[in-house]
Amino acid sequence: MTVDFAAIVALLLIAAAVLSWILVHWGRDRKLDSRFKFVSAEYFKGLNFLLNEEPDKALEVFIRVAEVDSDTVETHFALGNLFRRRGEVDRAIRIHQNLIARPNLTRAHRAQALYELAQDYLRAGLLDRAESILHELLDMPHYTEPALRSLISLYEQQKDWEQAIAMRRRLQVLTGSFEEETIAQYFCELAQGAMTSKDMALTNRFLKRAQSHDPNCARANLLLAQMAEASQDWTRSQRYYREVLEHEIRYASEVLPALVRVTRQMDGEASLETLLRKLRRDNPQVPGYLAIAAILNPELDDPVSQDCVADYLRTEPSLGGLYEMFVSFARRNGVSNLSDMEPLKIAVRNLLKSAPRYRCEECGFRSKTLYWQCPSCKTWNRTMPFHEITFAAIGHSSSA
Ligand SMILES: [Zn+2]
Repeated sequence: MTVDFAAIVALLLIAAAVLSWILVHWGRDRKLDSRFKFVSAEYFKGLNFLLNEEPDKALEVFIRVAEVDSDTVETHFALGNLFRRRGEVDRAIRIHQNLIARPNLTRAHRAQALYELAQDYLRAGLLDRAESILHELLDMPHYTEPALRSLISLYEQQKDWEQAIAMRRRLQVLTGSFEEETIAQYFCELAQGAMTSKDMALTNRFLKRAQSHDPNCARANLLLAQMAEASQDWTRSQRYYREVLEHEIRYASEVLPALVRVTRQMDGEASLETLLRKLRRDNPQVPGYLAIAAILNPELDDPVSQDCVADYLRTEPSLGGLYEMFVSFARRNGVSNLSDMEPLKIAVRNLLKSAPRYRCEECGFRSKTLYWQCPSCKTWNRTMPFHEITFAAIGHSSSA
Protein backbone atom coordinates (compact mmCIF):
# COMPACT_ATOMS: atom_id res chain seq x y z
CA MET A 1 0.00 0.00 0.00
CA THR A 2 1.51 3.36 -0.94
CA VAL A 3 1.76 6.24 1.52
CA ASP A 4 -0.94 8.16 -0.37
CA PHE A 5 -3.21 5.21 -0.44
CA ALA A 6 -2.68 4.49 3.26
CA ALA A 7 -3.37 8.16 4.05
CA ILE A 8 -6.68 8.22 2.19
CA VAL A 9 -7.82 4.98 3.79
CA ALA A 10 -7.00 6.40 7.21
CA LEU A 11 -8.91 9.55 6.29
CA LEU A 12 -11.94 7.55 5.22
CA LEU A 13 -11.83 5.54 8.44
CA ILE A 14 -11.82 8.77 10.45
CA ALA A 15 -14.73 10.07 8.35
CA ALA A 16 -16.66 6.87 9.01
CA ALA A 17 -15.89 7.07 12.74
CA VAL A 18 -17.12 10.67 12.89
CA LEU A 19 -20.31 9.71 11.10
CA SER A 20 -20.89 6.86 13.57
CA TRP A 21 -20.33 9.21 16.51
CA ILE A 22 -22.82 11.68 15.05
CA LEU A 23 -25.21 8.82 14.56
CA VAL A 24 -25.01 7.85 18.26
CA HIS A 25 -25.26 11.40 19.66
CA TRP A 26 -27.79 12.97 17.35
CA GLY A 27 -29.46 9.86 16.08
CA ARG A 28 -32.84 10.59 17.70
CA ASP A 29 -34.34 11.87 14.52
CA ARG A 30 -35.34 8.72 12.66
CA LYS A 31 -35.08 10.24 9.23
CA LEU A 32 -31.62 11.58 10.02
CA ASP A 33 -30.74 8.33 11.68
CA SER A 34 -31.53 6.24 8.59
CA ARG A 35 -29.65 8.72 6.37
CA PHE A 36 -26.49 8.52 8.44
CA LYS A 37 -26.75 4.77 8.54
CA PHE A 38 -26.90 4.79 4.77
CA VAL A 39 -23.93 7.15 4.52
CA SER A 40 -21.91 5.12 7.02
CA ALA A 41 -22.70 1.81 5.32
CA GLU A 42 -21.89 3.26 1.89
CA TYR A 43 -18.57 4.62 3.14
CA PHE A 44 -17.49 1.25 4.42
CA LYS A 45 -18.57 -0.26 1.11
CA GLY A 46 -16.48 2.28 -0.82
CA LEU A 47 -13.58 1.74 1.56
CA ASN A 48 -13.78 -1.99 0.97
CA PHE A 49 -13.59 -1.46 -2.81
CA LEU A 50 -10.55 0.78 -2.35
CA LEU A 51 -8.81 -1.82 -0.18
CA ASN A 52 -9.50 -4.43 -2.83
CA GLU A 53 -7.96 -2.16 -5.49
CA GLU A 54 -11.26 -1.70 -7.29
CA PRO A 55 -11.15 2.07 -7.74
CA ASP A 56 -13.99 2.29 -10.29
CA LYS A 57 -16.47 0.60 -7.96
CA ALA A 58 -15.19 2.71 -5.04
CA LEU A 59 -15.62 5.84 -7.18
CA GLU A 60 -19.26 4.98 -7.95
CA VAL A 61 -20.00 4.51 -4.25
CA PHE A 62 -18.33 7.74 -3.15
CA ILE A 63 -20.04 9.76 -5.87
CA ARG A 64 -23.39 8.32 -4.75
CA VAL A 65 -22.64 9.30 -1.14
CA ALA A 66 -21.66 12.78 -2.27
CA GLU A 67 -25.16 13.24 -3.65
CA VAL A 68 -26.53 12.46 -0.22
CA ASP A 69 -24.48 14.46 2.23
CA SER A 70 -22.43 17.63 2.11
CA ASP A 71 -20.28 16.76 5.15
CA THR A 72 -18.26 14.44 2.99
CA VAL A 73 -16.89 17.14 0.67
CA GLU A 74 -13.37 17.21 2.15
CA THR A 75 -13.08 13.45 1.78
CA HIS A 76 -13.98 13.81 -1.88
CA PHE A 77 -11.30 16.44 -2.37
CA ALA A 78 -8.77 14.12 -0.76
CA LEU A 79 -9.91 11.26 -2.96
CA GLY A 80 -9.78 13.41 -6.12
CA ASN A 81 -6.25 14.55 -5.32
CA LEU A 82 -5.20 11.00 -4.59
CA PHE A 83 -6.43 9.84 -7.99
CA ARG A 84 -4.65 12.72 -9.72
CA ARG A 85 -1.37 12.01 -7.93
CA ARG A 86 -1.62 8.38 -8.92
CA GLY A 87 -2.03 9.51 -12.53
CA GLU A 88 -5.67 8.42 -12.68
CA VAL A 89 -6.76 11.79 -14.00
CA ASP A 90 -10.08 10.63 -15.52
CA ARG A 91 -11.25 9.54 -12.08
CA ALA A 92 -10.07 12.79 -10.47
CA ILE A 93 -11.98 14.73 -13.14
CA ARG A 94 -15.18 12.74 -12.46
CA ILE A 95 -14.96 13.43 -8.72
CA HIS A 96 -14.37 17.17 -9.13
CA GLN A 97 -17.00 17.56 -11.86
CA ASN A 98 -19.48 15.75 -9.65
CA LEU A 99 -18.71 18.10 -6.77
CA ILE A 100 -19.19 21.19 -8.96
CA ALA A 101 -22.56 19.87 -10.18
CA ARG A 102 -23.94 19.70 -6.65
CA PRO A 103 -26.43 22.55 -6.11
CA ASN A 104 -25.89 22.80 -2.33
CA LEU A 105 -22.10 23.30 -2.55
CA THR A 106 -20.82 26.39 -0.70
CA ARG A 107 -19.12 29.13 -2.72
CA ALA A 108 -15.73 28.31 -1.15
CA HIS A 109 -16.01 24.62 -1.92
CA ARG A 110 -17.12 25.38 -5.48
CA ALA A 111 -14.02 27.54 -6.02
CA GLN A 112 -11.82 24.80 -4.54
CA ALA A 113 -13.45 22.17 -6.79
CA LEU A 114 -12.92 24.41 -9.83
CA TYR A 115 -9.26 24.88 -8.94
CA GLU A 116 -8.75 21.15 -8.47
CA LEU A 117 -10.54 20.43 -11.76
CA ALA A 118 -8.23 22.90 -13.52
CA GLN A 119 -5.22 21.02 -12.05
CA ASP A 120 -6.73 17.76 -13.38
CA TYR A 121 -7.09 19.28 -16.86
CA LEU A 122 -3.52 20.61 -16.74
CA ARG A 123 -2.27 17.17 -15.77
CA ALA A 124 -4.32 15.59 -18.57
CA GLY A 125 -2.97 18.10 -21.11
CA LEU A 126 -6.46 19.56 -21.69
CA LEU A 127 -5.00 23.06 -21.64
CA ASP A 128 -7.97 24.91 -23.21
CA ARG A 129 -10.34 23.65 -20.52
CA ALA A 130 -7.84 24.41 -17.76
CA GLU A 131 -7.29 27.92 -19.13
CA SER A 132 -10.99 28.73 -19.17
CA ILE A 133 -11.49 27.63 -15.52
CA LEU A 134 -8.34 29.41 -14.32
CA HIS A 135 -9.54 32.68 -15.86
CA GLU A 136 -12.83 32.23 -13.98
CA LEU A 137 -10.81 31.75 -10.76
CA LEU A 138 -8.86 34.98 -11.23
CA ASP A 139 -11.88 36.85 -9.85
CA MET A 140 -12.11 34.68 -6.73
CA PRO A 141 -9.95 36.35 -4.04
CA HIS A 142 -8.39 33.23 -2.45
CA TYR A 143 -7.59 31.71 -5.82
CA THR A 144 -6.22 34.68 -7.75
CA GLU A 145 -2.55 33.93 -6.97
CA PRO A 146 -2.66 30.14 -7.48
CA ALA A 147 -4.68 30.66 -10.68
CA LEU A 148 -2.09 33.18 -11.93
CA ARG A 149 0.76 30.76 -11.20
CA SER A 150 -1.06 27.94 -12.99
CA LEU A 151 -1.79 30.21 -15.97
CA ILE A 152 1.89 31.21 -16.14
CA SER A 153 2.91 27.57 -16.29
CA LEU A 154 0.19 26.89 -18.90
CA TYR A 155 1.24 29.79 -21.15
CA GLU A 156 4.91 28.78 -20.83
CA GLN A 157 3.95 25.28 -21.99
CA GLN A 158 2.06 26.79 -24.93
CA LYS A 159 4.92 29.24 -25.61
CA ASP A 160 2.32 32.02 -25.53
CA TRP A 161 4.83 34.59 -24.30
CA GLU A 162 2.52 37.64 -24.61
CA GLN A 163 0.02 36.04 -22.23
CA ALA A 164 2.80 34.83 -19.94
CA ILE A 165 4.08 38.43 -19.72
CA ALA A 166 0.57 39.69 -18.87
CA MET A 167 0.19 37.10 -16.09
CA ARG A 168 3.67 37.79 -14.62
CA ARG A 169 2.86 41.50 -14.50
CA ARG A 170 -0.40 40.78 -12.72
CA LEU A 171 1.40 38.49 -10.26
CA GLN A 172 3.98 41.21 -9.58
CA VAL A 173 1.25 43.73 -8.77
CA LEU A 174 -0.69 41.25 -6.64
CA THR A 175 2.17 39.80 -4.56
CA GLY A 176 5.00 42.34 -4.91
CA SER A 177 7.27 39.55 -6.20
CA PHE A 178 10.10 40.56 -8.56
CA GLU A 179 9.19 39.27 -12.00
CA GLU A 180 11.24 41.62 -14.19
CA GLU A 181 14.08 39.17 -14.98
CA THR A 182 11.62 36.50 -16.10
CA ILE A 183 9.62 38.99 -18.18
CA ALA A 184 12.93 39.89 -19.89
CA GLN A 185 13.41 36.18 -20.67
CA TYR A 186 9.93 36.07 -22.27
CA PHE A 187 10.89 39.02 -24.48
CA CYS A 188 14.06 37.10 -25.43
CA GLU A 189 11.85 34.15 -26.39
CA LEU A 190 9.77 36.49 -28.58
CA ALA A 191 12.99 37.88 -30.06
CA GLN A 192 14.23 34.39 -30.92
CA GLY A 193 10.90 33.68 -32.63
CA ALA A 194 11.24 36.88 -34.67
CA MET A 195 14.85 35.99 -35.45
CA THR A 196 13.76 32.59 -36.78
CA SER A 197 11.29 34.43 -39.04
CA LYS A 198 14.21 36.66 -40.13
CA ASP A 199 12.39 39.80 -38.96
CA MET A 200 15.46 41.60 -37.61
CA ALA A 201 13.68 44.88 -36.83
CA LEU A 202 11.17 43.07 -34.64
CA THR A 203 13.95 40.98 -33.05
CA ASN A 204 15.75 44.16 -32.14
CA ARG A 205 12.58 45.71 -30.66
CA PHE A 206 11.92 42.65 -28.48
CA LEU A 207 15.53 42.62 -27.25
CA LYS A 208 15.32 46.29 -26.31
CA ARG A 209 12.13 45.50 -24.36
CA ALA A 210 14.01 42.67 -22.61
CA GLN A 211 16.75 45.14 -21.64
CA SER A 212 14.18 47.62 -20.35
CA HIS A 213 13.00 44.96 -17.87
CA ASP A 214 16.45 43.62 -17.02
CA PRO A 215 19.29 45.95 -18.04
CA ASN A 216 21.86 43.22 -17.20
CA CYS A 217 20.10 40.51 -19.19
CA ALA A 218 23.00 38.37 -20.51
CA ARG A 219 20.76 36.57 -22.99
CA ALA A 220 19.56 39.83 -24.60
CA ASN A 221 23.14 41.15 -24.81
CA LEU A 222 24.36 37.88 -26.31
CA LEU A 223 21.61 37.93 -28.96
CA LEU A 224 22.28 41.61 -29.76
CA ALA A 225 26.01 40.85 -30.06
CA GLN A 226 25.32 37.89 -32.38
CA MET A 227 22.97 39.99 -34.55
CA ALA A 228 25.56 42.76 -34.85
CA GLU A 229 28.26 40.20 -35.66
CA ALA A 230 26.06 38.63 -38.36
CA SER A 231 25.67 42.06 -39.97
CA GLN A 232 29.45 42.67 -39.61
CA ASP A 233 28.95 45.57 -37.24
CA TRP A 234 32.08 44.62 -35.25
CA THR A 235 32.09 47.65 -32.95
CA ARG A 236 28.51 47.12 -31.76
CA SER A 237 29.04 43.40 -31.47
CA GLN A 238 32.17 43.87 -29.35
CA ARG A 239 30.30 46.31 -27.09
CA TYR A 240 27.48 43.82 -26.38
CA TYR A 241 29.87 40.93 -25.77
CA ARG A 242 31.78 43.08 -23.30
CA GLU A 243 28.49 44.05 -21.60
CA VAL A 244 27.84 40.37 -20.92
CA LEU A 245 31.28 39.94 -19.32
CA GLU A 246 30.86 43.07 -17.26
CA HIS A 247 27.60 41.90 -15.68
CA GLU A 248 28.23 38.17 -15.46
CA ILE A 249 31.81 36.94 -15.70
CA ARG A 250 30.66 33.31 -15.50
CA TYR A 251 29.56 33.55 -19.16
CA ALA A 252 33.19 34.20 -20.09
CA SER A 253 33.79 30.82 -21.68
CA GLU A 254 30.72 31.45 -23.90
CA VAL A 255 31.64 35.00 -24.79
CA LEU A 256 35.45 35.12 -25.04
CA PRO A 257 35.83 33.12 -28.28
CA ALA A 258 33.26 35.40 -29.97
CA LEU A 259 34.83 38.52 -28.47
CA VAL A 260 38.25 37.46 -29.77
CA ARG A 261 36.80 36.72 -33.22
CA VAL A 262 35.08 40.10 -33.46
CA THR A 263 38.10 42.04 -32.15
CA ARG A 264 40.38 40.36 -34.70
CA GLN A 265 37.95 41.45 -37.43
CA MET A 266 38.04 45.02 -36.14
CA ASP A 267 41.70 45.77 -35.66
CA GLY A 268 43.75 42.59 -35.81
CA GLU A 269 46.08 41.00 -33.26
CA ALA A 270 47.52 44.11 -31.58
CA SER A 271 44.11 45.37 -30.55
CA LEU A 272 43.13 41.90 -29.32
CA GLU A 273 46.16 41.69 -27.07
CA THR A 274 45.42 45.12 -25.59
CA LEU A 275 41.80 44.15 -24.92
CA LEU A 276 42.67 40.82 -23.27
CA ARG A 277 45.38 42.44 -21.12
CA LYS A 278 42.85 45.03 -19.96
CA LEU A 279 40.23 42.38 -19.16
CA ARG A 280 42.82 40.36 -17.22
CA ARG A 281 43.90 43.41 -15.26
CA ASP A 282 40.36 44.56 -14.45
CA ASN A 283 38.97 41.28 -13.15
CA PRO A 284 41.03 38.69 -11.23
CA GLN A 285 38.64 35.94 -12.37
CA VAL A 286 39.32 36.55 -16.08
CA PRO A 287 42.62 34.53 -16.36
CA GLY A 288 40.93 31.29 -15.21
CA TYR A 289 37.98 31.72 -17.56
CA LEU A 290 40.24 32.79 -20.40
CA ALA A 291 42.36 29.66 -19.85
CA ILE A 292 39.29 27.38 -19.97
CA ALA A 293 37.97 29.17 -23.07
CA ALA A 294 41.36 28.78 -24.76
CA ILE A 295 41.65 25.09 -23.80
CA LEU A 296 38.20 24.45 -25.28
CA ASN A 297 38.70 26.67 -28.36
CA PRO A 298 42.05 26.16 -30.14
CA GLU A 299 41.52 29.37 -32.15
CA LEU A 300 42.31 31.33 -28.95
CA ASP A 301 46.03 31.02 -29.70
CA ASP A 302 47.11 34.60 -28.89
CA PRO A 303 49.97 35.11 -26.36
CA VAL A 304 47.73 36.40 -23.51
CA SER A 305 45.36 33.41 -23.73
CA GLN A 306 48.26 30.96 -23.93
CA ASP A 307 49.91 32.55 -20.85
CA CYS A 308 46.65 32.01 -18.97
CA VAL A 309 46.48 28.39 -20.14
CA ALA A 310 50.01 27.66 -18.95
CA ASP A 311 49.32 29.21 -15.51
CA TYR A 312 46.05 27.32 -15.23
CA LEU A 313 47.59 23.93 -16.08
CA ARG A 314 50.39 24.52 -13.54
CA THR A 315 48.33 25.93 -10.68
CA GLU A 316 44.74 24.61 -10.87
CA PRO A 317 44.43 22.40 -7.73
CA SER A 318 42.22 19.78 -9.41
CA LEU A 319 44.92 19.29 -12.07
CA GLY A 320 47.85 19.00 -9.64
CA GLY A 321 48.27 15.22 -10.04
CA LEU A 322 47.89 15.35 -13.79
CA TYR A 323 50.54 18.09 -14.11
CA GLU A 324 53.04 16.13 -11.96
CA MET A 325 52.45 13.04 -14.11
CA PHE A 326 53.00 15.07 -17.26
CA VAL A 327 56.30 16.53 -15.93
CA SER A 328 57.71 13.21 -14.77
CA PHE A 329 56.70 11.49 -18.04
CA ALA A 330 58.33 14.27 -20.08
CA ARG A 331 61.58 14.05 -18.03
CA ARG A 332 61.74 10.27 -18.31
CA ASN A 333 61.49 10.63 -22.06
CA GLY A 334 64.20 13.24 -22.24
CA VAL A 335 61.89 16.15 -23.06
CA SER A 336 63.55 19.27 -21.77
CA ASN A 337 61.11 21.89 -23.03
CA LEU A 338 58.36 21.69 -20.41
CA SER A 339 56.76 24.87 -21.65
CA ASP A 340 55.18 22.84 -24.44
CA MET A 341 52.12 21.69 -22.61
CA GLU A 342 50.12 20.76 -25.71
CA PRO A 343 49.59 17.08 -24.70
CA LEU A 344 48.39 18.15 -21.25
CA LYS A 345 46.14 20.77 -22.81
CA ILE A 346 44.52 18.17 -25.07
CA ALA A 347 43.98 15.80 -22.13
CA VAL A 348 42.30 18.58 -20.10
CA ARG A 349 40.20 19.60 -23.13
CA ASN A 350 38.87 16.04 -23.34
CA LEU A 351 38.11 16.01 -19.62
CA LEU A 352 36.26 19.33 -19.84
CA LYS A 353 34.29 18.26 -22.89
CA SER A 354 33.20 14.99 -21.35
CA ALA A 355 31.61 16.66 -18.32
CA PRO A 356 28.37 18.69 -18.16
CA ARG A 357 29.05 22.37 -18.85
CA TYR A 358 26.02 24.01 -17.24
CA ARG A 359 24.33 23.78 -13.87
CA CYS A 360 21.02 25.16 -12.54
CA GLU A 361 21.66 27.20 -9.41
CA GLU A 362 18.18 26.42 -8.11
CA CYS A 363 18.00 22.64 -8.34
CA GLY A 364 21.50 21.56 -9.41
CA PHE A 365 20.36 20.08 -12.75
CA ARG A 366 23.41 19.61 -15.00
CA SER A 367 23.47 19.62 -18.76
CA LYS A 368 25.70 20.01 -21.78
CA THR A 369 23.29 22.57 -23.27
CA LEU A 370 22.58 26.06 -21.98
CA TYR A 371 18.87 26.16 -21.07
CA TRP A 372 17.49 29.57 -20.21
CA GLN A 373 14.60 27.81 -18.46
CA CYS A 374 15.73 24.84 -16.38
CA PRO A 375 14.07 21.68 -17.77
CA SER A 376 13.92 20.23 -14.28
CA CYS A 377 12.68 22.97 -11.91
CA LYS A 378 11.37 25.34 -14.65
CA THR A 379 13.18 28.35 -13.11
CA TRP A 380 14.36 30.98 -15.61
CA ASN A 381 17.83 32.44 -15.96
CA ARG A 382 19.52 30.33 -13.28
CA THR A 383 21.51 27.94 -15.46
CA MET A 384 25.14 28.99 -15.41
CA PRO A 385 28.22 27.72 -17.22
CA PHE A 386 30.51 25.84 -14.88
CA HIS A 387 33.61 23.79 -15.43
CA GLU A 388 34.46 20.88 -13.31
CA ILE A 389 37.23 18.42 -13.95
CA THR A 390 36.06 15.17 -12.46
CA PHE A 391 37.97 12.13 -13.62
CA ALA A 392 35.29 9.74 -12.36
CA ALA A 393 32.52 11.60 -14.19
CA ILE A 394 33.61 10.39 -17.61
CA GLY A 395 31.24 7.90 -19.11
CA HIS A 396 28.38 8.21 -16.65
CA SER A 397 27.43 11.88 -16.39
CA SER A 398 23.79 12.78 -15.71
CA SER A 399 23.90 15.28 -18.49
CA ALA A 400 21.18 16.20 -20.98
ZN1 LIG B 1 16.61 23.83 -12.00
